[in-house]
Amino acid sequence: TYAVTGATGQFGRLAVEELLSRGVPASELVAIVRTPSKAADLAERGVQVREGDYSRPETLPTALAGVDRLLLVSGSEIGSRIAQHTAVIDAAKAAGVGRIAYTGILKAGNTSNPLAGEHEATEEALRASGIPVTILRNGWYFENYTSQLGQYLERGEILGATADRKVSAAARADYAAAAVAALLTDDDGDAVYELGGPAFTFDELAATISDVTGTKVAHRDVSVEEYAAALEHVGLDAGTAGFVAGLDASIAAGDLETDSEDLVRLLGRPTTPLADVVRAAHA
Ligand code: NDP
Repeated sequence: TYAVTGATGQFGRLAVEELLSRGVPASELVAIVRTPSKAADLAERGVQVREGDYSRPETLPTALAGVDRLLLVSGSEIGSRIAQHTAVIDAAKAAGVGRIAYTGILKAGNTSNPLAGEHEATEEALRASGIPVTILRNGWYFENYTSQLGQYLERGEILGATADRKVSAAARADYAAAAVAALLTDDDGDAVYELGGPAFTFDELAATISDVTGTKVAHRDVSVEEYAAALEHVGLDAGTAGFVAGLDASIAAGDLETDSEDLVRLLGRPTTPLADVVRAAHA
C-alpha cells in the first residue's frame, strides 16, 4: 500500500494521479489529507481517503496503518514544519512504514536558503528514525514564477535580486512524477536525489515570457535591500519582504542551481520546457 500526504495540495494531487496512471490500484492507494471533504473526488474513484493532520498527531496512527511506502509531502506552514514532519515520521515508525520519500530542498546541508533549515532538520529526523528514506531535494518550481505572470505582464518587468545567477527550476508536475518514480523504485533506501531542470537566468525567464506571450517583459536586477524595499512598497510587511528577498539572495549565492541529471533520470524523459508552463499559465 502506497500513501501520499498533503494529497489535496497541488503536488500531492499530481503524485496521486501519477501513482494511479502508473498502475497502482486505487484500493492500494491512501490519500492522507487534512480535510477529507476536499478529497471526495478521490474517494469516489476508490482511493482510500484518510484524515491526517501534521499538527494533530492523534490523527496519524490511523492514517498510516498498513502503509508500506509513504510519500511525505513537506507542509506549507513555515515555522511549524519540524514538529509537524517529526510527528509524521514518529507515527510512521510506530506504524511499521517500510520506506518514506520526502520532498526536501535542493542542496540541503549546503545552502543559505532561508527555507532550508526545516528541510535539513526533517532529513535528520528521517535518518534518525531508521526507516529507509528517499530524499527528493527539489529545486524551485517554474510555477513560483508563472503564478506571477499577470503581474509581470502588467508591469512589463520582472524585478529580482539574483545577481544574474541561474535557477535550475522545473515544472511542479515533473517533480511529482519524479517523486513517484523514486517511490516505485525498489531500492534499499537512503537514496538522495538533487532535482532541478536546465538552469536559466531571470534575463532568460523574461525572454521566454516575452516570446510566449507576445508582451515585452524585461528583467531588472537590484540589490537584495532594494528588492525588499520594493516588495514593501507594493504592500508586503517588512518581515515577509525580507524573507522573499532572501530567497533571491539564495539564488544569487548559487543555491538553486544544479547540474544534477537526477530529475531527467527519474523521469526517463526530458523535463517539461519552461515555455510550455508559461504557455499553460497564459492560456
Ligand atoms: P500546496 O500549498 O498546494 O500544498 C501544501 C499541502 O500541504 C496541502 O495539501 C496542505 O493541505 C498540506 N498541509 C499543510 N499543512 C498541513 C497540516 N498541518 N497537516 C496536513 N497537511 C498539511 O503546495 P504544493 O503542493 O505546491 O507544494 C508542496 C510542498 O512543496 C509545499 O507544502 C512546500 O513544502 C513545498 N514547496 C516547494 C516549492 C518549490 O519551489 N520547491 C514551492 C512551494 C512549495 P490542504 O490541502 O488541506 O491545504
